[in-house]
Amino acid sequence: MAHRSSFIVIRVSDYLLNSRCNSIVLMGNQFSLIGKSASFYTLGCKLNFSETSTIMRQLIEAGAHKAARGEKADICVINTCSVTEVADKKCRQAIHKIVRENPGAYIVVTGCYGQLQPGTVADIPGVDIVLGQDHKGSVLENLNGLRKRDHGISKTVGTNDIKNFVPSCSRGDRTRFFLKVQDGCDYYCTYCTVPYARGHSRNASIESLVEQARQAGQEGGREIVITGVNIGDFGKTTGESFIGLIKELDKVEEIARYRISSIEPNLLTDEVIDFVAGSRAFMPHFHIPLQSGSNEVLKLMHRRYEREVFAQKVARIKSVMPDAFIGVDVIVGMRGETDELFEDAYRFIESLDVTQLHVFSYSERPGTAALRIPYKVSPQCKHERSQRLLELSDSKTRAFYESHIGREATVLVERPKRGMPAHGFTDNYIRVELDSAQVQENSLVKVLLGGLNTAGDALNASIIK
Ligand code: SF4
Repeated sequence: MAHRSSFIVIRVSDYLLNSRCNSIVLMGNQFSLIGKSASFYTLGCKLNFSETSTIMRQLIEAGAHKAARGEKADICVINTCSVTEVADKKCRQAIHKIVRENPGAYIVVTGCYGQLQPGTVADIPGVDIVLGQDHKGSVLENLNGLRKRDHGISKTVGTNDIKNFVPSCSRGDRTRFFLKVQDGCDYYCTYCTVPYARGHSRNASIESLVEQARQAGQEGGREIVITGVNIGDFGKTTGESFIGLIKELDKVEEIARYRISSIEPNLLTDEVIDFVAGSRAFMPHFHIPLQSGSNEVLKLMHRRYEREVFAQKVARIKSVMPDAFIGVDVIVGMRGETDELFEDAYRFIESLDVTQLHVFSYSERPGTAALRIPYKVSPQCKHERSQRLLELSDSKTRAFYESHIGREATVLVERPKRGMPAHGFTDNYIRVELDSAQVQENSLVKVLLGGLNTAGDALNASIIK
């Protein structure tokens, strides 16, 4: 997936509601869940996180309340990921643990792992139902009156029949909102299972997304991250376009900042870059999946560009936004990536004026075309390549941060972590630390950027009165 984010398990903690009654009431063909406790778990990417919030909202609207920490839940919803072998394993472990900790709870599993391995998941003792991508939006209708089943069942459809779009706009674990604009992918890169797990590219309408953005602003949201699987492909189902979407979102005055989560290099047009440069609220911050700096490896991956195109996009961004933050995804150890090809890729990446590398080790995925490539990279070699790129990333990020010392910037203050100093991000995504006594969460403040903090992962900053 272009947007392979770090692997996370989140127990969602928003939207607590109280309820005193303890019954299930039939309402039409749905149950009222008044008095029932529900817990929600997300593995994988921000898109999953966003969708889990939508499911949670549906259950809470039907009367359930979010189980408090330590409270046994009556319903557990687990939204899974399948981006790597490790992700599959973590999903299985999480399901076993949740079943164990919530004896008798009705267990619903959804998400990519459920879609790709419905039988395996339904066989896990305690699981009641596995809902594939097309049924992700209908958890409520599938609770079976909370009657436990002797054996789990699954409801999935084939990739070509995944049609539903589950709209999601959720507040993240900190301050930003995540607005899902698109789902699915038609690219079929040879190493990736996402098109099989999430189906074809489809999207919400610009009109509905503008409305969701406005709503997020009315709920206090200042910043929105535009998410999806392949967001540059936006518009397939509505006859619209990504540039059309960002132009309309920019007009939503309630939102002070937008960030584009990740966009394929071939879909990041000059028109989009130039619009961001002159826009009211789109931040000079890009996340572009390169995946390999070798044209031969890009060909093996069936990526839709050569590295020269990527270099041209970076140059274009820097020519109109010299201070833009550019994050780049790279996969190491893809089948076919010989030592020579890796060295060639490394030199290319080293030459790019980018800020940070997100490095992932290639993972063998059943059913993918990459498995037909004979040359395999050893785990040791993948590890060494990964370390070299991470070191390169650190030096690029540090140089970028240091070049901003002594400058003024505007920072959106994030929700603080317990026992940690207040922090936030500049428009170009530099992490800064601030004096907690002087700032309020979710406020925009003007700061003077100082030197690196002790951990070397943020700049110290002082408020400009
Ligand atoms: S197939 Fe390619 S473009 Fe599509 S999600 Fe996977 S990596 Fe991204």
